[in-house]
Amino acid sequence: MVGEPSLLLAPGRERSVERRHPWVFAGAVGRVEGAPEPGDTVAVRRRDGRFLAWAAYSPASQIVARVWTWDEDELVDEAFFAARVARAAAARADLVERTDAVRVVFAESDGLPGVVADRYDSHVVVQLSSAGADRWRSAIGAALADLPGVTGVFERSDVDIRAREGLAARTGPLVGEVPPATVTIAERPPAEGAGWSFVGDVVGGHKTGFYLDQRENRRLVSELAADRRTLDLFCYTGGFSVAAGAGGAGPITAVDSSGPALTLAATNLGRNGISGVELVEADVFTYLRELRDRGASFDLIVADPPKLARSTSQLKRATRAYKDLNLLALKLLAPGGLLVTCSCSGLVTEDLFQKVLFGAALDARRDAQIVDRLTQATDHPVLLSFPEAAYLKGLVLRAS
Ligand code: SAH
Repeated sequence: MVGEPSLLLAPGRERSVERRHPWVFAGAVGRVEGAPEPGDTVAVRRRDGRFLAWAAYSPASQIVARVWTWDEDELVDEAFFAARVARAAAARADLVERTDAVRVVFAESDGLPGVVADRYDSHVVVQLSSAGADRWRSAIGAALADLPGVTGVFERSDVDIRAREGLAARTGPLVGEVPPATVTIAERPPAEGAGWSFVGDVVGGHKTGFYLDQRENRRLVSELAADRRTLDLFCYTGGFSVAAGAGGAGPITAVDSSGPALTLAATNLGRNGISGVELVEADVFTYLRELRDRGASFDLIVADPPKLARSTSQLKRATRAYKDLNLLALKLLAPGGLLVTCSCSGLVTEDLFQKVLFGAALDARRDAQIVDRLTQATDHPVLLSFPEAAYLKGLVLRAS
């Protein structure tokens, strides 16, 4: 393979790739040999020429290459993607009993940087966010379409990070059947058997249509909810309200600033026979102050805001917003009330999030105990060599 385009790393900058971290930052590259195009497979080498990895080249990005494989003998071709996709899907086999909506490929965690694929029964929705993933679009689409029972693959490559790779957004059918605008999702928590069902909008909705990463946390909320007056903040599809209602919650109020989100939530509540939920179209931060001024009180509050920190420069502001949100929420809790609070900003570490909650509790003058810690569902695994994949975290707090 000598003669392939290569990235020769600057002295001392090979350690990260040697430790199986899949990203090569622009600053780590000493010299580019050959004339690779965006998305081409390049060899990542030490300065002395020794092979380290095969990676996808992305000159427009700060992450100038993403590793496909550390095995010099492994060819990056159609068969490579078929094998990786099949391996990732097989690793989720245990989830089939529990749900028909599964993240079958989770990017770096499955050895496929830039590739996220969610399966909704017979339809797969794929998101390609890097130059390398984009280059292998057909092969990835074919591999996903080949999974048993899949009738179509739909592309939702409309994430803003594509711009950093110099790629335009692209949405549309990739292989086979086009999914219906709304797909149905059945979740069957093992404890209850019956479970619940949702509709999600895979063509126009957030992410690929549904928050699969909160699957286990919906189950937890249903277990906590019995008889509790519940407030579901940033409710979107109403996933947590449905779970709370199924778990026998007291009156439920669900809040979102988006009208279409509330329509979706109403549909999902209806499907699951949960009535009497108050759906409020409002900015959560404003509405919480209104509730405070009214002297409202709840026994269970779920706060699942959108990603508030998208870059390091937004971290400070995001931290303030998380604190504000949680401070207001803690104040609304009745004695013994529970706050299930999440952050899906990867930049906000578990440690930082806990500190933010500590500050919020201090200012709210409420003692609070951590009674549980939440994370992303098991189909969003985290490689030990790539901790950046851990993005969703949450705490269950019990207020005194
Ligand atoms: N818990 C949801 C997912 C939340 S996604 C679920 O399980 O489906 C975040 C949601 O927050 C989106 O629906 C968005 O419309 C809403 N949102 C964003 N900013 C908001 C704000 N300031 N006030 C109210 N809702 C907001």
